[in-house]
Amino acid sequence: MAEIEPEASLKNTATPHWIRVILDIPLTGPFDYRWTSAVPVGTRVIVSFGRRKLIGIVIANPEQPGYDVKLIKPIEQVLEDTEPLSLDWLRFAEFAADYYQRPLGEVVLPALPAPLRRIAAYHGKRSSGGPVARLDARKTLKRVDSVVSTAPILNKEQQSALEAVTAATSFKCFLLFGVTGSGKTEVYLHAAADILKRGLRVLLLVPEINLTPQFEQSLRQRLEPVAGPNGVAVLHSALSDGERLNAWLRVQRGEARVVLGTRLAIFAPISDLGLIVVDEEHDSSYKQQDGLRYSARDLAVWRGSDLNIPVVLGSATPSLESWAHAEQKHYQRLDLTERARAVTLPTVRLVDTRRLKMDHGLSPHLIQAMRDRLENGEQVLIFLNRRGYAPALHCNSCGWVSKCSRCTTFTVLHRAAAGRHQLHCHHCGLQQRVPSSCPDCGDQDMQPMGRGTQRIEEHLSQLFSPARVVRIDADSTRKKGSAQALFDSVHAGEVDILVGTQMVAKGHDFANLGLVGVLNADAMLFSQDFRAPERLFAQLMQVSGRAGRHTGHGEVIIQTGYPDQPVYQALIKHDYAGFARFTMRERKAALLPPFSHQALLSAEADDLNLAIAFLEASRQTAVDWTQENFGDNRITLYDPVPLRIVRVDNVCRAQLLIEGTHRPSLQALLKHFLPHLSTLPEARKVHWQLEVDPLEI
Ligand code: ADP
Ligand code: ZN
Ligand code: ZN
Repeated sequence: MAEIEPEASLKNTATPHWIRVILDIPLTGPFDYRWTSAVPVGTRVIVSFGRRKLIGIVIANPEQPGYDVKLIKPIEQVLEDTEPLSLDWLRFAEFAADYYQRPLGEVVLPALPAPLRRIAAYHGKRSSGGPVARLDARKTLKRVDSVVSTAPILNKEQQSALEAVTAATSFKCFLLFGVTGSGKTEVYLHAAADILKRGLRVLLLVPEINLTPQFEQSLRQRLEPVAGPNGVAVLHSALSDGERLNAWLRVQRGEARVVLGTRLAIFAPISDLGLIVVDEEHDSSYKQQDGLRYSARDLAVWRGSDLNIPVVLGSATPSLESWAHAEQKHYQRLDLTERARAVTLPTVRLVDTRRLKMDHGLSPHLIQAMRDRLENGEQVLIFLNRRGYAPALHCNSCGWVSKCSRCTTFTVLHRAAAGRHQLHCHHCGLQQRVPSSCPDCGDQDMQPMGRGTQRIEEHLSQLFSPARVVRIDADSTRKKGSAQALFDSVHAGEVDILVGTQMVAKGHDFANLGLVGVLNADAMLFSQDFRAPERLFAQLMQVSGRAGRHTGHGEVIIQTGYPDQPVYQALIKHDYAGFARFTMRERKAALLPPFSHQALLSAEADDLNLAIAFLEASRQTAVDWTQENFGDNRITLYDPVPLRIVRVDNVCRAQLLIEGTHRPSLQALLKHFLPHLSTLPEARKVHWQLEVDPLEI
C-alpha cells in the first residue's frame, strides 16, 4: 500500500523532476520518468515503454528515482484535457488493487473510459490537449417530458428506515431487508433527495439497467428537481465509448450529482459523496468475472467507510455474507415487512412431481391453474432457466448423445425456421447443422432429450391455442431493442403466456400477471457449488415477486421432486430469515463463507496434467510458506481439482481452493506467494489467475 504520495512537492527547479507512473501492463510497476517540472498526482501522461507508447497515471513525484538515472526516459506528453484523478479516488483504487492482489495500473487504467486511455486519440499531436474539443462535445441527454411523478407518503417502516439512514453522519452500513414490493426504492429516493439537499452527491448501484429503463426515468423525474437538470448520470457497460466518456466527465466535473450505474459505476470519479446505495445487493452481477475480479458491493462498503458516509445495501434475499454482518451488528438491519401497496404476497405452492403423470414437463396442477388464470384474463409466466429447444439430441437405437467436439458438454438443440435446426454449444459457441442420421449407427430415429424454453413455448402454443405465447430469453432478444419490444408487448396486454429465463425475473412490474410456474428448479439445487441453494432461493423469491403485484391474489407453482428441501419449505412461507438460519448453521458447521474466506487459483492449459501440475506446485509453495510463517493450520489448501466442465474450447481447466478463517493471514499468504507463481517452471505452459472471494467454486 501507500504507493501514492499525495504530498509531492510541486516546486519548480532547474533539475529534472522524477515522476512515478503506473501503466496497464502485466509487469509490476510503478515506473519512473522525468519531466521539466513536477506533475500533479492523478495526471494522465503519455510515456514510452519499450517500443510502445502508453498512457499512464502519475502517482508520485519522488525525491530520488527508483533506478539508474541514465535509464530514465522523459515523459512524452502531459495530458491536461481532464482534471487529475482525485486522491480519494486513487486511494480507493489502491485499496482495490491491494485487496484483489493486482498491480495498481491494472486497476486504475481499465476503470477509465476507453478514450482516456487509448493512445490512438493522441497520436502525432504534440501539444497537450489531445481531443479536448471532442471531449467537450456534450450530447444533451434525453429529457423526460412526462408528468413528474410524485413521491408517495412513506409508511411507518419506510419512514423509520429513512430516518436511520439520514441520521447517520459517519460511516454506517445498513442492510435494508424488505420483501419484493415493500418500497425499498422509495427509501433510496427519499434518502438520496435528503443527501442532495445537503449539497452532497449520491451513488446508486443497480444490477441491471437495460432491462428496466422505467427505473432510470423515474429516478430522473424524482431527483432532477433536487440534483438540477441533467443532474443524473448513468454509467453501464452497454453505453458507447462516447456516451460513457461523456457521463464520466460530467461526474468528474461535478455536473452530475447522482450517479446511477451497474457494477463498474463503483469506480465513478464522484467527489463530495454523501451516500452509496447498492440495490439487490445479493445479485451476482455485482461481481466482475474477468480482469480485476471485484465485488462492487464489497468495494461500496469500503468506499463508504473510507469516506465516512452511510452505505445502504438493499435486498429481499440478502447474501449470507451481509446477513452475517447484520447478525454480528456490524451492519444495522432495517426491515420492511409488508408490501407497500395494499396487496398481499403471492401464495407459493409446491407440486411434488414424483408420482404425477406429466405432460411435456407440466403437471396437471400447473395446467389447470394456467387455464383458470387465462380464463380470468390474467397473464401467466412460465420460468425455465434453460434456453434452446432441448439440452441434447439423442439416438434411440445406440444411445449416441450430441456432444461438443471442443468441450466436455452436450450440444443444445435449437430449432429454426424451415427445418434448419442446429446444435449449439453454450460454452464455446460452436454451431452445427443437426445430422440427418445418427453419426454412430446411421439410424434416423433421433429425439430431443429434455426441454428448453423453445420446446415449452411450442407446446404451450398448442395446448392453450389460441393464447398468445411469447418467449423472452437470450436467443429471442439478440437484436438491440428487441427485449424492450417484447417486454412492452407484455405490458400492453398483447401476451397471455410468457416463457422466460432469468431475464424475466428481475425488477419487472407486470400489472396483470397472476401466476408464475417454475419448471426444473431442482436442476439449480443440486449443483456442487455450496451457494446453489442460496442462489436458488433468491432467484425463486424474485421470480415469485412478479405474481399478483397489483391484484394481490398472485400464485406461484413450483414443480419439484424434492418438496422437503429447506429451500422450498422456506419459500412457501416467504421465510428468508428461516432459510438463512438453517443455511447459516450448515455453513458454520462446514466452516464455509461467511465463516471463512476463500481465494481460488485457477489454471488453464492444453493438457489437464499441466494445469494440475502447476496448481500442485503452487500448493506446495503455499504450504511451505504457511508452515514457516504460521506453523498452524489456519489456512486450508485443498487438492487441485479439474472443473466440472473440464474442457472448454479445447482448453483444460483446474482450480485450487485456498480457505482461511482469518482474513489477514489469507491476504498475507496471497501477497507472498503470488510473485513466486510466475517463476515456477510449471507456470510456463499454463494461464493462471487468482480470484479473491470467488462467488462460484
Ligand atoms: P421494492 O423496491 O421493495 O421491490 P418498490 O419501491 O418498487 O418496492 O415499491 C413497490 C410499489 O409500491 C411501487 O409501485 C411503489 O411506487 C409503491 N410504493 C412504495 N412505497 C409506497 C408508499 N409508501 N405508498 C404507496 N405506494 C408505495
Ligand atoms: Zn445411433
Ligand atoms: Zn463447445
